[in-house]
Amino acid sequence: MEGEGTATGRQRRATASQLDQWTVQDQVFKIYGAFASIPRSAQSVILELQRDKHVEYLTRGLQQLVDLGFATGSCTQLLYLGNQLTMNWRIMPSTFLAVVRIQMVAMGVDQGRQVAETFALYWIGRRMVAMPHLATTYAAVNSLVTLGGHKALSSINRDNLYKFLSRMKDSSGAFRMHDAGEIDVRACYTAISVASILNILDDELAKGVGNYILSCQTYEGGIAGEPGSEAHGGYTFCGLAAMVLINQANSLDLASLIDWVAFRQGVECGFQGRTNKLVDGCYSFWQGGVFALLQRLPAFGGEGFGTSDVEVEWVSDSTSEGDDEDRDSSDDNEALHPEPDQEGHQSSSHSPESSTAVHIHHSRHNQLEPLFHTMALQQYIVLCSQEQEGGFRDKPGKARDYYHTCYCLSGLSVCQYSRSKNENSPPLPTSVLGPYSNLLEPIHPLYNVVSRQYHDAREFFSKY
Ligand SMILES: [Zn+2]
Repeated sequence: MEGEGTATGRQRRATASQLDQWTVQDQVFKIYGAFASIPRSAQSVILELQRDKHVEYLTRGLQQLVDLGFATGSCTQLLYLGNQLTMNWRIMPSTFLAVVRIQMVAMGVDQGRQVAETFALYWIGRRMVAMPHLATTYAAVNSLVTLGGHKALSSINRDNLYKFLSRMKDSSGAFRMHDAGEIDVRACYTAISVASILNILDDELAKGVGNYILSCQTYEGGIAGEPGSEAHGGYTFCGLAAMVLINQANSLDLASLIDWVAFRQGVECGFQGRTNKLVDGCYSFWQGGVFALLQRLPAFGGEGFGTSDVEVEWVSDSTSEGDDEDRDSSDDNEALHPEPDQEGHQSSSHSPESSTAVHIHHSRHNQLEPLFHTMALQQYIVLCSQEQEGGFRDKPGKARDYYHTCYCLSGLSVCQYSRSKNENSPPLPTSVLGPYSNLLEPIHPLYNVVSRQYHDAREFFSKY
């Protein structure tokens, strides 16, 4: 047949999705090709995080939000960034935090002047509405935890927040995002996460959540937003994290979940959110974070999560497995340029082993060996998602935004600590792509806040 087997024939038969995929692959491979062609000494410079530019971008954005009024959803993405940029990198946080505090006052949560019963303000189009919503509640609580300190933490009205969470609970056990809103796994996670970090999680809130999430795990192994939908990276993270928080992670089919998520890392080195979808920087956290959760489970050789809610199950049967200092780093700097095969498929070197059903494999020194290619993902984040003028983006050709900046940085942190047995053992330079100054603080993978800030909040809410 005419055109059969030729590039033209291939193009003619291609679906719109295939054409999009090839376009993205071409863009990404051009970037990697250009990077590979420059001298090694210059590569290090290219791999540097442009932290000053990122801070500038975020500070400018935050100021614009203040000028506009207040939009909790966007503001909290910026505040997350405050967490990744200022707390983590310890770069002159005072100016940034000052702006953040102004913003928090604008949100009405400072000095006990909390709006309504929860964090409720966000934009619909050009109109600002004040309706309590679980997504903004989650983001606002995490932002206050990130800010830290008595003033920020005590500004949260936990009694009213508990009432709000109870009202969002459906008779099925799952949660809805807002009054008369959609019921899904995201709502379950945000509700359980907020309740857990504020130390108000109880049996009433947790009841039925596990069964709902189990009903959302699909034949592929990942978790969908609601029963009958397609497995998706964001919902898989939300579902697994919620199940860990209510001590029911073992009820999931973890073997098929791992298989599904491991195969979501593609030839571009980043993750896709769903089967046959395009790579996207934000899944660096949604999918990478799934691995961070799994490797902390004692069943996989991890050391638990350091929360009183979940350590009963996860820490009680954990085993001490030696010192990370003794790690074998011979393969840490393996090829940064994984070669796609003829068909452009993912290299088999990234494939999970059949034994992933029972454990994340350890080297002979008991060093954690993550189930995804952490150096390759760092390469995608730094070279393809990072904007040299500040901020991060979904993929080359897309515009930067605060959401992707937040989740690319969280994904980067997950990669850097993926070989560490616990958050107190800093990664070796061989686990950090580029200069060691690229190292971020560890995040707590259950909540996506800086670990240190999480521990401070945990202590605070155990007392008050
Ligand atoms: Zn995205």
